[in-house]
Amino acid sequence: MKHSLLIILLFLMISGCEKIKKADSRQDMAPGPITLVIHGGAGTIKRENMTPEREKAYHDALQQALEAGYSVLDNGGRSVDAVIAAIKIMEDSPLFNAGKGAVFTHDGKNELDASIMDGSNLMAGAVAGVTTIKNPIKAAYAVMTKSEHVMLIGKGAEKFAEEQGLEIVNPSYFFDSLRYEQLQNALKKDTSKTAALIDPYTKDKKFGTVGAVALDQFGNIAAATSTGGMTNKKYGRVGDAPIIGAGTYANNKSCGVSSTGWGEYFIRLSVAHDIAAMMEYGGLSLEQAADGVVMKKLPALGGDGGIVALDRQGNIAMTFSSAGMYRGYIRKKGEGKTFIYKDDQ
Ligand code: ASP
Repeated sequence: MKHSLLIILLFLMISGCEKIKKADSRQDMAPGPITLVIHGGAGTIKRENMTPEREKAYHDALQQALEAGYSVLDNGGRSVDAVIAAIKIMEDSPLFNAGKGAVFTHDGKNELDASIMDGSNLMAGAVAGVTTIKNPIKAAYAVMTKSEHVMLIGKGAEKFAEEQGLEIVNPSYFFDSLRYEQLQNALKKDTSKTAALIDPYTKDKKFGTVGAVALDQFGNIAAATSTGGMTNKKYGRVGDAPIIGAGTYANNKSCGVSSTGWGEYFIRLSVAHDIAAMMEYGGLSLEQAADGVVMKKLPALGGDGGIVALDRQGNIAMTFSSAGMYRGYIRKKGEGKTFIYKDDQ
């Protein structure tokens, strides 16, 4: 009896070690080619709700973000700088729900969230509920590199950003008439719920958060996410985007992930970290882990959305359970590929 227990214990220890070894060997293998994968939000993005001009504008903006990030990597730069460069383009574009073009809160304000993580040392930074920082992703990076904290919120985060010399704008900079109209529509329907809680599938409720994950020539992975959250959010609601482990996660041992979708569900499932954990502890491939979380666990709980991710070998995943996700990747100069709908190849 004692012996068989001992044997079982030994077996469990050995198989545990095997899994940890698997994760370590993933990190020990030669890294893949420099790669960047981005998203501009998941949601009910359908061809019938889109004009050809708007569709082109999205492809162009995604392409521009890919090129900005890739040129950092191609010039020997770091993955953290590449994700910031890509996200800055999307934060500055009114097409996405991040920076300029962010959605409105119930009170008619724009409250922004962002986060970044460096997979080489597990350093991370985030800001939430900020209203005056032009590029919240830069503030998240400053929190990671210039403070002893991981997350700063509201006025304190704004003061910190100002002290760090980041560009501060009047909140009116973030105003976008289409986003304002979306708030008015949401208010007409139900003043007590965020837009997605009313009906996540109606055409004007697509999310539009932005995110990027990069692998640099040093084999280091970085991930970052930036958002205005959800239309009609109240009471200082904060979603998954600035939460390390939910909206953003990066670890050279497994992968980097940036999420987009119905934030409450992503927080409850720790989506970004769960994908990394399935790889590190379970020995799953990036694709298997992303599918398991985004296509199984997330819908089972009632949530929807997507992720972009990559591992140290440069494998990418662009997985989503919604009708579409603005997305793209690049591995070679001038050869960025961008997609919108589910059936885009
Ligand atoms: N995940 C974001 C949030 O819940 C929304 C989005 O992805 O667009 O705040």
